[in-house]
Amino acid sequence: MKVALIGIGKIALDQHVPAIQHSPDWELAATVSRNGTIDGVEAFTDFAEMLTARPDIRTVSLCLPPVPRFDYAMMAIRAGRHVMLEKPPGATLAECHALAEAAREAGVAIYATWHSRQADMVSAAKRWLSDKTLRRLNVTWKEDVRRWHPGQGWIWEPGGLGVFDPGINALSIVTEILPDPIHVSGGLLEVPENCQTPIAANLRFHHPKGANVAAVFDWRQEGEQTWEIEAETEEGILRLLDGGARMLVDGVEKGEVAPLAGEYPRLYEQMARLVEHGGIDMDLRPMTLVADAFTLARRETVAPFIE
Ligand code: NAP
Repeated sequence: MKVALIGIGKIALDQHVPAIQHSPDWELAATVSRNGTIDGVEAFTDFAEMLTARPDIRTVSLCLPPVPRFDYAMMAIRAGRHVMLEKPPGATLAECHALAEAAREAGVAIYATWHSRQADMVSAAKRWLSDKTLRRLNVTWKEDVRRWHPGQGWIWEPGGLGVFDPGINALSIVTEILPDPIHVSGGLLEVPENCQTPIAANLRFHHPKGANVAAVFDWRQEGEQTWEIEAETEEGILRLLDGGARMLVDGVEKGEVAPLAGEYPRLYEQMARLVEHGGIDMDLRPMTLVADAFTLARRETVAPFIE
């Protein structure tokens, strides 16, 4: 199947292009970007033009930041194309609901991807937790924004999510592995005085069976980077490390120790299934937690962020 990549920026180049090139299901047939191109692939600068010129391309994969994404997604659905959305699937929940409804009416597939859910040990963690009694779960997602988001001004603007841009990845894993639903009960957002979005966040969650669930996201982490979820149950302690690539139960490594890999190939496999059988895969639980954090958490102004 032919796919067009829209928005040739960091994630398109780092992950989407190699995942498509190695996929047995997909062929990269066109790109749309004001600046980026891929060698040997037809390049457009205007999305509407590409949709008209290439009716043979039935699927588009949107790798834009969240704010411009809705208009592109709606244009694609109205042109009868299947749509794959980078995370977060929109700038607001209402946009995501509107896209799902429009896709349903148009009879096209739409996929709100959550790449971190495809990390190697996430499904094993879900299986392990499925019959355990949770006492406590702590998310620690601390990384250096200068290292991972160089020059990305949009993350500090309204809709850019700030530290929730990586934080939502952790929440996509938590909502996948926990058998019970959680919701935000309070927290603190630290917002640099020259920015619109938080550089750090501390959240507490309500758990229906009384477990103590909390998350810390921080973009000011230098040196060692931490993407960890620790779940203490009555039956033992599970730790998911390196963004879900590794899993330990009571200190014992489960599975092979391998760097994070395979997330994007799995997303494109799932998109192929959705296109073949028609389908809407729009799990908005991670996004709901983030929206609720913005609604409910206290705000504190902190030192300006200078890149
Ligand atoms: P990026 O490199 O800053 O931007 C991606 C591309 O979007 C840019 O190259 C730009 O393409 C286009 N773009 C930006 N603003 C636009 C606008 N207003 N209108 C039209 N096009 C615009 O961002 P990224 O890191 O790839 O992230 C894109 C999405 O992927 C985000 O939602 C992010 O959360 C997600 N993601 C990123 C990472 C990561 O490690 N960076 C990992 C996983 C997921 P042109 O200027 O060439 O047109």
